[in-house]
Amino acid sequence: MLTAETDILVVGGGIAGTSVAYHLTALGRRVTLLERGEIASGASGINAGQIDSIGWGHKPDLQAHLTTGSLDIFKSIQLDLGEDVEFRQSGALQAIHTEAEGDFERERVRALRERGHRVELLANREARSLEPGWSPRLLGAMYSPERSQADPCRATRAFATLAERSGARVLTSREVTALAPRPGGGWLARTSGGDVAAGSLVLAAGAWCGPVGALLGLDIPLVPVRGQMWATAPVAPSVFQTMSSAESALAWHRDPGTDPPLLTLRKGARLTRHLYGRQRRDGEIIFGGDRELAGWSATPDPAGIEVNRAHAIEVLPFLAGLPIARTWAGLMPFPLDGKPLIGRIPLRPDLWIVGGLASSGFGRGPMAGKLLAEYLHSGRPAAVLAEADPARCVVERH
Ligand SMILES: Cc1cc2nc3c(=O)[nH]c(=O)nc-3n(C[C@H](O)[C@H](O)[C@H](O)COP(=O)(O)OP(=O)(O)OC[C@H]3O[C@@H](n4cnc5c(N)ncnc54)[C@H](O)[C@@H]3O)c2cc1C
Repeated sequence: MLTAETDILVVGGGIAGTSVAYHLTALGRRVTLLERGEIASGASGINAGQIDSIGWGHKPDLQAHLTTGSLDIFKSIQLDLGEDVEFRQSGALQAIHTEAEGDFERERVRALRERGHRVELLANREARSLEPGWSPRLLGAMYSPERSQADPCRATRAFATLAERSGARVLTSREVTALAPRPGGGWLARTSGGDVAAGSLVLAAGAWCGPVGALLGLDIPLVPVRGQMWATAPVAPSVFQTMSSAESALAWHRDPGTDPPLLTLRKGARLTRHLYGRQRRDGEIIFGGDRELAGWSATPDPAGIEVNRAHAIEVLPFLAGLPIARTWAGLMPFPLDGKPLIGRIPLRPDLWIVGGLASSGFGRGPMAGKLLAEYLHSGRPAAVLAEADPARCVVERH
């Protein structure tokens, strides 16, 4: 049953897919987005909501485009378009626990500032002035005034709403189960709710880009990595910036690992502790950190949650008095070589992908979607997309 024809079909209703749909409709294109659950039912709805910009710098690279470009888009959604996505440019503190971390952060801040990024090294007293709950036992902090936060679910849904307002069809509870090229050009998608014919096809299925690619006979080298978090019950305003810790930054600087890089655990052995957190507008204080290959499991590992909570208490000692009220987990799309996939897959006609946004796709997804939309519309990639070219790694499936 052919239920719909469209110019461009987007598979996946996370931050990447909804941003592509929003930006393509803004360019006047006819778009249909298919999501198998609700909008934001993947990683985009349950992440920590941290937006990791440190500014364009003197010579913007891919990372600066994705992070600072996304920051500009978040601002425009909240400030210009009136969508309340709980956006706040709160700034961020990264805790320094040891002398080795202090030496590492000093050099990192120097190098980033030289490249024109907005970061500072703070003495611990200065960090405590910004964040009253901050531990007096820490050695200091890296402060990033542009880092921001927003509610992940509200923000992702706002992109879908804005796309719909400009004419996109956003269809939920529509799982794509088969994809085939049409004789004469274009694509046919079989879904749980009927077939959709399209000119171009955009894969934005997050951690599920692998299985969706398999429907096309392609091997898309990204894997699901489990991220997990916990929350306190709502409390009065107590955490004002977004929080992290230098421990993992130093560990991954020394040895990022491979296939994929930047995990906290590998085969059950802990490589480092990682930390991120903030306080939501509803008062919950939320923290997370672990990244582990756990197949398709999105069930939190209680031992990892305890390690993470202890780490958070080292930064904000008052958390010791606040029990965990809930925990959750989700799947992050980690590319095996650590770089995102944004662009055309040349092995099939009119096939595009925006994926592999890993552990920071909430803060990079809006601009990733915009860059992909502009490339698809104009046929010309932005120069910064060279290192995200999917042609480097997507191959035929054997
Ligand atoms: C616990 C946790 C904390 C995180 N914290 C942060 C953070 O603070 N800041 C940050 O920047 N990033 C964070 N991330 C990472 C971020 O959430 C992801 O990088 C980002 O959400 C990926 O977006 P996406 O749109 O590519 O994928 P997703 O949001 O996973 O969306 C993919 C969508 O595709 C749909 N789909 C899959 N298969 C099909 C199909 N066959 N048919 C139709 N639809 C399909 C899925 O249902 C899903 O909704 C975190 C992630 C986790 C798990």
